[in-house]
Amino acid sequence: MGKKNKQFVENVTAMEDDFARWYTDVVKQADLVDYGPVRGTMIIKPDGFAIWENIRDELDRQIKATGHSNVSFPLFVPERLLQKEKDHVEGFAPEVAWVTHGGEDKLAERIAVRPTSEALFSDYYSKNIHSYRDLPMLYNQWANVVRWEKTTRPFLRSSEFHWQEGHTAHATDADASEETDRMLGVYADVVENYLAIPVYKGRKTDKEKFAGAKYTLTIEALMHDGKALQSATSHHFGSGFAEAFDITYLDENGESQFVHQTSWGLSTRIMGALIMVHGDNRGLVVPPQIAPTQAMIVPVAQHKEGVLDKAYDLRDEMKDLVRVGIDASDKKPGWKFNEYEMKGIPVRIEMGPKDIEKDQVVLVRRDTGEKEFVARTDLEARLPVLLDEIQQNLFDKALAHRVEKTSVATDMDEFKQTLDQKSGFIKAMWCGDMSCEEKIKEDTGATSRLIPFEQESIADTCVCCGKEAKELVYWAKAY
Ligand SMILES: [Zn+2]
Repeated sequence: MGKKNKQFVENVTAMEDDFARWYTDVVKQADLVDYGPVRGTMIIKPDGFAIWENIRDELDRQIKATGHSNVSFPLFVPERLLQKEKDHVEGFAPEVAWVTHGGEDKLAERIAVRPTSEALFSDYYSKNIHSYRDLPMLYNQWANVVRWEKTTRPFLRSSEFHWQEGHTAHATDADASEETDRMLGVYADVVENYLAIPVYKGRKTDKEKFAGAKYTLTIEALMHDGKALQSATSHHFGSGFAEAFDITYLDENGESQFVHQTSWGLSTRIMGALIMVHGDNRGLVVPPQIAPTQAMIVPVAQHKEGVLDKAYDLRDEMKDLVRVGIDASDKKPGWKFNEYEMKGIPVRIEMGPKDIEKDQVVLVRRDTGEKEFVARTDLEARLPVLLDEIQQNLFDKALAHRVEKTSVATDMDEFKQTLDQKSGFIKAMWCGDMSCEEKIKEDTGATSRLIPFEQESIADTCVCCGKEAKELVYWAKAY
């Protein structure tokens, strides 16, 4: 980076120096969030929310395309409902925010601000599912939830966050399994093809699964600093909640059966992944598929006659083709270049008097910094192709990074050494014993991220205890 360029990004710590500070600097300088007045809460600002809306819109489209309906359930959960499923309440109890008063009056029963809504949906299903004809019930809601976190960071861990939570009820265990798989597939599609983030797919160990679930499926991504981030999860509940909430239906033979449920969620945490996978020392890098502005026109020497008119003409020509913006403010072009690089806008279109004379524009890619001169007549064909190339390049770069940082270990010395030197994912065999999982976490700081769907045999014995190995697990330090 040249000296001249560097002065514009002096507000951002280099990621090599301090990744955590780099992250908070980018979040702030790219104008994504501000801190709320209650500790751990965040205000998502227009530039941040516009990205989230694009993620949300695509995910919502796919949720509906797979047969689900959106609903809106209450913010409040009575304590007695939360208490019904034992594992569930134990899992969430330390993070629940309680309402104890209404105005001046103490409430007879505490009310939880929803940390998640299984209890509410289960209560509803117990009253509204009667017959096999009512199944499946395929609901989703876009909501905010509260979890009283001790340490918080914008997007990654905040006391209140936005997400969607799908809650479904099915006649059979097999139907619920299919649904659990299907929704993990939807998440993987959105995260890989829209956010350009490659993910590993698999199942959580019992230690890491959702409180109250029979099993949890997950997609995990690798951040730039070599740590993993759980990007979305899909849970199979079996009939656990159905038994706790007495959710039954009459089957075709008139016999009473418990339903089988699932839930699945993707939250604003994914914004953290977006920043930490694609961002660089010049700021945010937003994949074109979800970028609110895909190309920003910056007129050069705009005080010269005709430049602004031509720039607006260009905007009007492009606006049905791509999401295009124009900055005709009187700030200097250099300031604008750096501002839109900081905000991660995929392409900058420069146009000055010389370009107008030659009937061309200059395209500058955010991901590589490469410049190309394109004739005005070719722009309509070139720009969408360039955006696709950027999208693909971001995915390929992230994938190459993950390949580089996915290692194999067959004993604990190798495990520790690799984790210290390379970070990233460690593939190692596991005996299935939770005590080994705990010991690995204690000794190395790495947690089991997933049991991959595609199993390989790396060794015959558990990496930790040396007993017979049951399955391959991907381990990593994680957010
Ligand atoms: Zn073991």
